[in-house]
Amino acid sequence: MSVLEIRDLHVSVETEAGATPILNGIDLTMKTGETHAIMGPNGSGKSTLAYTIAGHPKYTVTGGTITFDGEDVLEMSVDERARAGLFLAMQYPVEIPGVTVTNFLRTAKTALDGEAPSIRSWTKDVKTAMSNLRMDPKFAQRNVNEGFSGGEKKRHEILQLEVLKPKFAILDETDSGLDVDALKIVSEGVNRAKEATGLGVLLITHYTRILRYIRPDYVHVVVAGKIVEEGGPELADRLEEEGYDRFLDPSAPIE
Ligand code: ADP
Ligand code: MG
Ligand code: MG
Repeated sequence: MSVLEIRDLHVSVETEAGATPILNGIDLTMKTGETHAIMGPNGSGKSTLAYTIAGHPKYTVTGGTITFDGEDVLEMSVDERARAGLFLAMQYPVEIPGVTVTNFLRTAKTALDGEAPSIRSWTKDVKTAMSNLRMDPKFAQRNVNEGFSGGEKKRHEILQLEVLKPKFAILDETDSGLDVDALKIVSEGVNRAKEATGLGVLLITHYTRILRYIRPDYVHVVVAGKIVEEGGPELADRLEEEGYDRFLDPSAPIE
C-alpha cells in the first residue's frame, strides 16, 4: 500500500498581477485502493490542486507539504513524480503534433520503467486496452490528441492510465463533455485499473454523474481553495440535489 499525503497546502499562481493565492490550506490523505472525489464549483482550485501534485511550474507552493510514502513530492521533478507512480489525466489534454499515440505510449512506458517494454507483451497490452476502451486501432497511428474529439481525448487519457499502470491517478474532469456511453466506457477503464492494480484515484469533478459509475469512498468539497466539507458517497448524492449554493459566499465575485 502507498500513501499520498497533502498537509496544509497553500498554492499561488503567477499572473501578470503577481502571485495570487489559490489554495488556502488543503489537507488530504489518500491510500492506494481508495477513490476520493474532489468536488466544487468552477474556479475553486480543483485543477490547481491537480497541477500542483503533478508539478506544473506555473503553480508555486507557498506552504504545506505533499509526501508520497514519506518522500517529499515537492522536491521531485515532474519525471520523478511520474516514476514514483503519480499520473495526471488533464482537464484539457494537449495536442502533440508529430508524435503518434503508439510512440507516445511506448516512450512514456520506457521512461517510467527505465527500459523498453518487451514488444510482444506491450503490443498486446496496448491492443487490449484500446479494444476495452472501444478505440479504433487506427488511433494508434494518429498524432496525440490532434483532431481528436473531446471524448476521444478523454479515452486516450484512460488508455495511458491502463497501460502505464500508475499507483495514483488524478482525473481532472475526465467526465466533462462525455455522452453517457463514453462516460461508461471511461468509467469502466478506471474501474478495471482499480481492480487490476489497486489504483488510488483522485476524481476531480464538478458533477455527480460520474460518481454513479465510479463510486467514491470519500467525497471532499473544495470552495475558494479550501476543503469545506467531507463525507462518504452520500455527500455526492446530497450535492446532486442541493448544488453548491449553500457553500458559496454571496459577496464573492462571480466566475
Ligand atoms: P477549478 O479547476 O476548480 O475550476 P482552477 O484551479 O482551474 O479551478 O482555478 C482556480 C482559480 O485560479 C481561478 O480563479 C483561476 O482563474 C485561477 N487560475 C488557475 N490557474 C491559473 C493560471 N495558470 N493563470 C491564472 N489564473 C489561474
Ligand atoms: Mg474549471
Ligand atoms: Mg478545473
